[in-house]
Amino acid sequence: MTFISVAVPVPGLDLLTYRTGSDGRVPAIGARVVVPLGSRVVTGIVVGVDATPDAATAIKPIRDILDEGAFIPGDVIALARWTAEYYAAGPSEAITAVLPPKTRGSRADAHKTVRVAAITATGLDAIGEARALTRKQRDVLELLAGTADGIPAPQLAQRGFASDTLSRLVAHGLVTLRVERVDRDPFSASGYDAAAIDASRRLTPEQGAAVERLRALAGNRAFRVALLHGVTGSGKTEIYLRLSAAVRESGRRVLMLVPEIALTPVVASLFRQTFGERVAIQHSGLSDGERHDQWQRIRRGDIDVVVGTRSAVFAPLQHVGLIIVDEEHDASYKQDESPRYNGRDVAIVRGQRAGALVLLGSATPSMESYFHAMAGKYERVLLARRVLDRPLAAVTIVDMREEYAAEGPNVILSRALRSAMQARLDRREQTLILLNRRGFATAVFCRQCAGTLDCPNCSVSLVVHGEGAARRARCHYCNYSTRVPAACPLCAGPYLDQTGFGTERVEAEVRSACPGARVARLDRDAIRRKGSLTALLAKFRDGDIDVLVGTQMIAKGHDFPRVTLVGVVSADVGLGVADFRASERTFQLLTQVSGRAGRGENPGEAIVQTLYPDHYSIQLACRQDYAAFYEKELLFRRAMRYPPFTSIVNTIVRARTFAGAMDDAADLVHKVRDADGDRGRLRVLGPAPAPIGKLRGEYRAQLLIKSAHRKQMREALLNAVAARPELARRTTIDVDPLSML
Ligand code: ADP
Ligand code: ZN
Repeated sequence: MTFISVAVPVPGLDLLTYRTGSDGRVPAIGARVVVPLGSRVVTGIVVGVDATPDAATAIKPIRDILDEGAFIPGDVIALARWTAEYYAAGPSEAITAVLPPKTRGSRADAHKTVRVAAITATGLDAIGEARALTRKQRDVLELLAGTADGIPAPQLAQRGFASDTLSRLVAHGLVTLRVERVDRDPFSASGYDAAAIDASRRLTPEQGAAVERLRALAGNRAFRVALLHGVTGSGKTEIYLRLSAAVRESGRRVLMLVPEIALTPVVASLFRQTFGERVAIQHSGLSDGERHDQWQRIRRGDIDVVVGTRSAVFAPLQHVGLIIVDEEHDASYKQDESPRYNGRDVAIVRGQRAGALVLLGSATPSMESYFHAMAGKYERVLLARRVLDRPLAAVTIVDMREEYAAEGPNVILSRALRSAMQARLDRREQTLILLNRRGFATAVFCRQCAGTLDCPNCSVSLVVHGEGAARRARCHYCNYSTRVPAACPLCAGPYLDQTGFGTERVEAEVRSACPGARVARLDRDAIRRKGSLTALLAKFRDGDIDVLVGTQMIAKGHDFPRVTLVGVVSADVGLGVADFRASERTFQLLTQVSGRAGRGENPGEAIVQTLYPDHYSIQLACRQDYAAFYEKELLFRRAMRYPPFTSIVNTIVRARTFAGAMDDAADLVHKVRDADGDRGRLRVLGPAPAPIGKLRGEYRAQLLIKSAHRKQMREALLNAVAARPELARRTTIDVDPLSML
């Protein structure tokens, strides 16, 4: 009899041990098996055979084996197990992360003909007019407006639109239906086609040298990490494409990770043009059906290049010769639920196991990656210039204290920014305006008692969204929302006022400063509806928007050649946060956003408004001086013993009372310190109230461990938690955290 170790997709469960069934068949690692679990029967994944069972438990047999060989390739199973261990997560959660998405609906619809709905010109007009449309009809029209070729009717049904909504729109001439073969190909619905890449385009000398060097590294067929540090607009995408082509020619495959596909459709589209049918894309914005089809094609070996977000690092791609991580510094590579992995770091481990070249690309590399590059652990490849010798944007810093002195304390757009924006409108060029804070006003306060309107569930103040009758106060953490009261809830006084401002207010200010300008806003609130992000970006690209106001979303990777002005309102928002990465993040954001200006033929300009014009991350971002920032920041990190000089694990304990959370965290602190004894390898800080001390009704205490000994750090902590099983559910362990909140 053989014992089989099985991961079941049930959060929190450890690996389970079963024995072979009566036929004695031993499943392959990575095969799906049907196993009994309590009174249920579930499908699990075999992660090991010849397990040593725990003698005390009765071992049940496997019911069925669903796959002859591996369903999930063995190396991907091993990668998932590494992820679970490294990030102190349950094996089941990690295995769940590598499973293909479930297909809803029937698989049979894959190659039938279906009706595809597309919007008509009348339909487009109807969106803009206040015509008598129902909410659903409007939603359908907006969805369709965001696509080039329309959306198959079954997909609309999947998104909850009844077929009579569609028939009514057709009857009114707002939508047409055509019959087509269904091809669950996400590219057809992406609504964006990059201008065909010119294969004969001459690389700049810098690009050429970079490609040669990287090609040689890939040709070694051995693991190596290279950091492609290229200023914004230096043409990194072109390098990814050429290198991928070279690796593919050598018979190996390419995995390319991007922070957010919806924001970089260009990349996916360029890869599609270069590699045709043998490209798959994987990200959560696709329908389950689309993702599943693509996943199956990858697994069958029909795919040479996978472009995807974080979770694509677990794609069942074999013979991987190159893994590209674009914008490697981006925080969206970190998953904020268990397993809390960083896709970039898992990519490096995958590359190591596959003997592949891992290429990390960024204009603003993370401190960690640059540190390794400087130490020679990674190969460093530099692109110091923009393509065609286009200059970087000229940056002006506006000291808002002077602006307040001249124009009064309520000014939001400085004189310099207003006139620069007007000049762009006159020249029919485009402007981006960044404020990394959503909403209209950031707090409501009482002039009489100085109280603020806070979230009843979280220790944060509510943010005002909307104006006039539509005004609501909302919690950005738990989504609690309420009408803004007329009187102060604390002292009943009538002097409630609002303070601080977010993107909605900036949008309103731009409209009143530039009447007639076509203004739009891009932030999480503005793109709630699926498809609206792509639609908005397409409108901006087509020149139908003059000024786009937004949060950090507008800073990411876009290549809009007609943008010649970038305005940054409150460049220092991110500096006030209780997080050792605050300066790094501010530097990255400002550098990236000023990098959006002047990518076309006309040179770019950036205007950065701040109350801290002397702060080094603002100064150096404005000078686009990455090396100087790195040196300066490194001193701080070394002095404070923060990464890259040490590793950290952030642990949050939640409880019903503040005292309870602090006591439990204190208990963990003691246990971890005891485990370390007088070896002094683990530095434990805390317990302390977490920066957000109360969240969704639970109180939160925090302990932080710093150490160069990752394994000991993790083990001490896991043992401490295991000693108090009821605490496990209330404890969040974050290894290599990116956010300390
Ligand atoms: P990055 O990702 O480094 O910011 P991109 O890859 O987006 O830069 O390239 C910036 C722009 O320059 C794009 O419009 C791209 O098509 C163009 N480009 C890239 N390489 C060349 C080249 N060798 N010659 C002309 N234009 C180029
Ligand atoms: Zn809340």
